[in-house]
Amino acid sequence: MTPDSEFAFELRTCRWAEREWPPDRGHGHDDTHHIVARQLGTKRRRWDTIVLECDPTGLRNRARFGAKRLDSDLLHIVRNAPTEWAYYRDALPHPGYPWRYVREAIHQADDRGILEMRKQGNRIQIRRKWPYPDWIERIIAIENKPDLDASAARALGPQLEFDVALALADEVWVATQATDETITPALFEGLPVAAGILTLDPDALTAEVAWHPRQLAVDEPGTRILERPDGGERDGSAARFEYVEPETKAEKRLALAERAYERGWRSFVETMRPDCRHFELRAREGPQLVPYCSAKACQPTAAECSGSCPEFEPEPPVWRTKDWPIEGGPGKRLQRLLAKRRRRRRPGQNAGGCD
Ligand code: SF4
Repeated sequence: MTPDSEFAFELRTCRWAEREWPPDRGHGHDDTHHIVARQLGTKRRRWDTIVLECDPTGLRNRARFGAKRLDSDLLHIVRNAPTEWAYYRDALPHPGYPWRYVREAIHQADDRGILEMRKQGNRIQIRRKWPYPDWIERIIAIENKPDLDASAARALGPQLEFDVALALADEVWVATQATDETITPALFEGLPVAAGILTLDPDALTAEVAWHPRQLAVDEPGTRILERPDGGERDGSAARFEYVEPETKAEKRLALAERAYERGWRSFVETMRPDCRHFELRAREGPQLVPYCSAKACQPTAAECSGSCPEFEPEPPVWRTKDWPIEGGPGKRLQRLLAKRRRRRRPGQNAGGCD
């Protein structure tokens, strides 16, 4: 199967990163101290692939808080919860929004088993179960552009400039398909010099660094570019931008990492139709499972494989024998299989069995 879409290339980049990251360490290290996710970012910017480099102990301790992400309300509580019982309003810093939302989040945290809560009269007291670990070392953002020609580079350049100026990720990369050229054509395309370039062979699942990225100043204020002049002859307008404080960046980084921890990159199945009778997961070289459509005889993109697909056919009820409806049919089984593989990359989570 030859990757013929950015989506297919993106899945190969994710798989390569899961096996080989960081790019210069040599092959064959399948350790679990980094986590790969895809299609995550902020309100203004979404990256194709995210790699979280994690502290091994911190990552294992993060698993105590469960597989689901902690949103900002829950993070506020678990990061500030006291070691001894205390009235929640005395123990927690003012959140900057009404306390009733904090109470709701406390009940949620209690339901999830990540906080201790009790009532003393009318007062809610809390106590932490575990300290929230410092588990993220670095965040790497990768844009996937298998065909990085001049027009793709023109479109990508401003996005990378945005990333470099804001410095939310520690490094920004472009992954492009390896060619037969001695020097990858991507190097001639005028991308920001702070962005790294990786050439990936999606079939062999090997990659080389064509250009090393600059380490970005994530602990310093960043610059968010809001608007830039189009650069025409008559355009004398100035760019508009705003500063972003390091504390705000740190919060966004943590929120991004929590979402990456929950979703990973195999979540592609959640935006497709595994309940279609034509949907399959096929193994590429090695154990990587990728979506395959037996009706179209190709690897579909998430946009194609949706409810509006003209060839969608629900899996027949007869497939859902035995445990149905509790266990679901083959589509549900495929989702569980991918979820299990995701858990295997999260030390401390119980992956259950082997696949
Ligand atoms: S027929 Fe359409 S919905 Fe069904 S697997 Fe193929 S692309 Fe997806």
